[in-house]
Amino acid sequence: MKTFKTMLSALLLFLFIASCTPEQESNWYKGNLHTHTYWSDGDAFPEMVLDWYKTNDYQFISLSDHNTLQTGEKWKKLPKSHIYEQAFDDYLAKYGADWVEYKKDTAGISVKLKTEAEYAPRFQDESFLILRAEEITDSFEGKPLHMNATNIQSLIKPGHGSSVAETLQNNIDAVNAQREKTGQPMIPHINHPNFGWAISVEDMKALRGERFFEVFNGHPMVRNYGDSARLGTEDMWDQINIAYLKRDQSLMYGLATDDSHHYHRFGGQFSNSGRGWIMVEAKSLSPEALIEAMEEGDFYASTGVTLRTLEQEDGEIELNIEAESGIQYTTHFVGVRKGGSSTEVFASVKGTTASFEMTDDILFVRARIESTRLQENPFREGDFEMAWTQPIVR
Ligand SMILES: [Zn+2]
Ligand SMILES: [Zn+2]
Repeated sequence: MKTFKTMLSALLLFLFIASCTPEQESNWYKGNLHTHTYWSDGDAFPEMVLDWYKTNDYQFISLSDHNTLQTGEKWKKLPKSHIYEQAFDDYLAKYGADWVEYKKDTAGISVKLKTEAEYAPRFQDESFLILRAEEITDSFEGKPLHMNATNIQSLIKPGHGSSVAETLQNNIDAVNAQREKTGQPMIPHINHPNFGWAISVEDMKALRGERFFEVFNGHPMVRNYGDSARLGTEDMWDQINIAYLKRDQSLMYGLATDDSHHYHRFGGQFSNSGRGWIMVEAKSLSPEALIEAMEEGDFYASTGVTLRTLEQEDGEIELNIEAESGIQYTTHFVGVRKGGSSTEVFASVKGTTASFEMTDDILFVRARIESTRLQENPFREGDFEMAWTQPIVR
């Protein structure tokens, strides 16, 4: 009896201490999961790209080149133009002749690209993380079917297929199989569905094991907003989630990415850095913590709006926007009702704080925050800064 009492009081003491220990604190981390370099069709050296993101206060980045990881020997012959010769001179001046390996002759300049193993130690530290990635670049009947794989351990070759959906599914399965095999968290995400009008909402509704897609991509050719006959990505998003919830599949979450290719020419016809990113609320800056938080929906996509806080629990969204002087904000709580087939705006709230509580008739809800501040280098002329939180169900 005495032993039982001792055990009981020890247990109570343990429970008391456990309840007093604060949960590990979360922080917001800014990152871009879709970026190109000279390793494929981007027009800058990886070090210069990393330097841009690091000095612009990003905490994580994926250099996601087409069907390649940044390993092995690759020489890049620079285009013969003043822009690229000048950019090379800047690169050489910044990193020095000891670092840069190159050949210069009458044919032009060729540079040996640094591998991930070479450049990563120069950039990674406690406040900047590189997530290894690849843009799996596949196609079906001429339609470009691109999908990013983030935090992969080894290269995934395009899997092909006998339809758009099957091609995408084969590539998703390959990423998830590598995750299973290695035990490393990694995520596939669908890129720019409307690029080449390649991926329809029906194609995406058919997918299994996909949790993420680009609701915003900064490349000028990707048609985020659809056209008069075809859905924009934001409308697609809700249609996908109606289908996913119908068969108890986890919700699809929306990303904003740069898909940057151009680092020396700027403006509407180029894909530049800084147009779209995600903010992840994670316990630490590690691939495991970031991906865990993303899969929980603890992140938002942004083209300029920053949230100070975002609470999403028990069917309630509560958010606080980082105010900028002279700028107004409107938060639209949008989603779909149970049995509904189209997106509705449930409430619109002006100001820097907004909250919404789901009623029983609502299937899912998410917040779209619009500001009155024009984007400096927009995807489309006249676009205002925005943010999108992830859909929640009760
Ligand atoms: Zn692409
Ligand atoms: Zn891309």
